[in-house]
Amino acid sequence: MRVLVIGAGPAGARCAERAAEAGMVVTLCGAEPALPYDRVALGRVLSGEAEPPALITHGAARLRDLGITFRPATRIAALDAAAGRAETARGETIGFDRAVIATGSEAVRLPLPGAALPDVFLYRSMADVIAMRRRVTRGTRVAVIGGGLLGLEAAASVSQLGARVTVVHAVGWPMERQLDPMAGALLARQLGATRRLDFAMPALSEAIEGQDHVTGLRLADGRSIACEMVVMAVGVRPSVALAREAGLTVARGIVVDDAMRSSVPSVLAIGECAEHRGIVCGLVAPAFAMAEAAAATLRGEAAIYAPRPDPTALKVSGIDVWSAGEIEPADAEAITLSDAAIGRYRRLWLRGGRLVGAVLYGDTADAPFYLGLMAGGRDVTAMRDLLPFGAAFQEVA
Ligand SMILES: Cc1cc2nc3c(=O)[nH]c(=O)nc-3n(C[C@H](O)[C@H](O)[C@H](O)COP(=O)(O)OP(=O)(O)OC[C@H]3O[C@@H](n4cnc5c(N)ncnc54)[C@H](O)[C@@H]3O)c2cc1C
Repeated sequence: MRVLVIGAGPAGARCAERAAEAGMVVTLCGAEPALPYDRVALGRVLSGEAEPPALITHGAARLRDLGITFRPATRIAALDAAAGRAETARGETIGFDRAVIATGSEAVRLPLPGAALPDVFLYRSMADVIAMRRRVTRGTRVAVIGGGLLGLEAAASVSQLGARVTVVHAVGWPMERQLDPMAGALLARQLGATRRLDFAMPALSEAIEGQDHVTGLRLADGRSIACEMVVMAVGVRPSVALAREAGLTVARGIVVDDAMRSSVPSVLAIGECAEHRGIVCGLVAPAFAMAEAAAATLRGEAAIYAPRPDPTALKVSGIDVWSAGEIEPADAEAITLSDAAIGRYRRLWLRGGRLVGAVLYGDTADAPFYLGLMAGGRDVTAMRDLLPFGAAFQEVA
């Protein structure tokens, strides 16, 4: 069976590998020029801790051994599912029996005045981080728009290169989707102290200033942040244009069933471009799980992709923050353990005797314990008094 995998990000590369292991004839097309690499680790290249080759997950020899035909810098421009044919942007045709769309997401570029100036960067691909690393020198002033997970990671990485960074965030505390206000405040304080990051929040960006190059970022409240470079980290959008033009059902992402089949059964979709039960994932663990489910479907097995609570952790060394599940839900009870002097903080949310969300700051060793309780949907009423102290206290009790 000829399988065409479109997109060589983590999901596409994993699915191609599994299909090839099962003896299928696999072609893997990636729009980026690079060999498949670990996107999650891009911050290490941006900060100068690693060089691009260190991130490659599927080298040329491995792809050859697997029997995968890898085509880098090959964007698929059109898909004819009924005829089993795809067309590349260069006009070549590739035939297939099954296609797997793994086109991921694109970073959003805010349509601000000045957004097209050089020195305005996105943070998504190897090309983005190589370009940023070339641009930053010691003392470069950088404004990072977006204080979410990726914005903070980009800010910490460029500060490691010697940049002076201001994070501009629309909400009053960073990572508001993963953290409650208290944990967010602790995080901003620690990033200020250890990484010299400044924060402007809540603040909306209005325009990037400068004629031929960036000179500042104007905020809606009238302030202006002097800078020579802007990084936009304001979210992603699933890459669904190819699927839509091919006539597949697309909502926010490409709509798939539990077996990762799209509305056209010979075409599967996985990773950040797919929408499963109304949810588009934004993390690598579900993207890998979808790749495994799709590979099982290709092998003719009854595959079921079962989403799990998706924990998030900030990958800035020396900062231990972790969260999972629902954060500050209106209809849940909260238990808080806080010792600001030593920078430890925990907040847990319970509904109907079950743990539905958790934030850990300063000490994240109990993350697997809380995640297990959430995933298992276990009734925690009997352990409630010692719950915020973590797993060790449960064993003692
Ligand atoms: C800097 C950074 C840090 C991150 N850190 C974390 C983290 O700590 N934890 C975590 O869980 N997640 C993290 N993520 C998110 C994680 O990287 C994604 O969830 C994951 O990459 C999704 O994989 P994917 O294969 O679905 O899509 P992608 O990684 O987006 O890959 C899709 C690929 O398809 C290609 N493509 C698109 N259209 C076409 C086409 N028409 N033809 C051919 N190729 C095409 C794209 O160029 C791209 O290479 C991070 C992301 C970034 C950018």
